[in-house]
Amino acid sequence: MDYVIPPAPIPAVPVIGGKDSFPVRRIYCVGRNYAAHAREMGSDPDREPPFFFCKPADAVVPVAPGNTTETAYPSQTANYHHEVELVVAIGRGGRDIGIESANGHVYGYAVGFDMTRRDLQFALRDKGRPWELGKAFDQSAPISPIVPAARIGHPAAGRIWLTVNGVLKQEGDLADLIWSVPETIAHLSKYFELCPGDLIFTGTPEGVGPVVRGDLVAGAVEGIGEISIRIT
Ligand code: MN
Repeated sequence: MDYVIPPAPIPAVPVIGGKDSFPVRRIYCVGRNYAAHAREMGSDPDREPPFFFCKPADAVVPVAPGNTTETAYPSQTANYHHEVELVVAIGRGGRDIGIESANGHVYGYAVGFDMTRRDLQFALRDKGRPWELGKAFDQSAPISPIVPAARIGHPAAGRIWLTVNGVLKQEGDLADLIWSVPETIAHLSKYFELCPGDLIFTGTPEGVGPVVRGDLVAGAVEGIGEISIRIT
């Protein structure tokens, strides 16, 4: 079939240990998933059900290991925030996935930044409006290469951290996720049929804050990877 205009390229993320890439279908994000971050956002961290929002697939910015990738300070914000997150890459789809079988749907893991126009997000939130302008803009999802679960298994613990210009800003542990990866997959798949190519940003630990042009933002999850971006 031919198209009336050129089709957009398929967004893709490199995979560690091979030459092939992971094609991105959708990006789901968990709203808040570490108790201390829920508190700093002004909400009760008790286990109310997780909530989700989306970013467009082409918001991904693949960042090669050991490189610093430049990303643009976005328009229409004066409070641009970093959030470092464990990212889950779905390799096998399904709906109403059980917690016990959820890991079998995971292709691999990565480190990502859920970059956020915090001023817009809060203004929209306070008016009960959708979050897209605050969360779903271009280049809002820098991501490391994906490491296959076949190589590392399914980590339930491990340090996650972020620095700005070498200064530690965010630090937590995957063991502190309010909703574990299997629980998150189980919840999300009640609402959406998950498909191969879906990414899930699993939430950020406490310590989110602003970045400005020129800042070097580095993040990592122990055993999974690290990324570094320069805000330009
Ligand atoms: Mn987030």
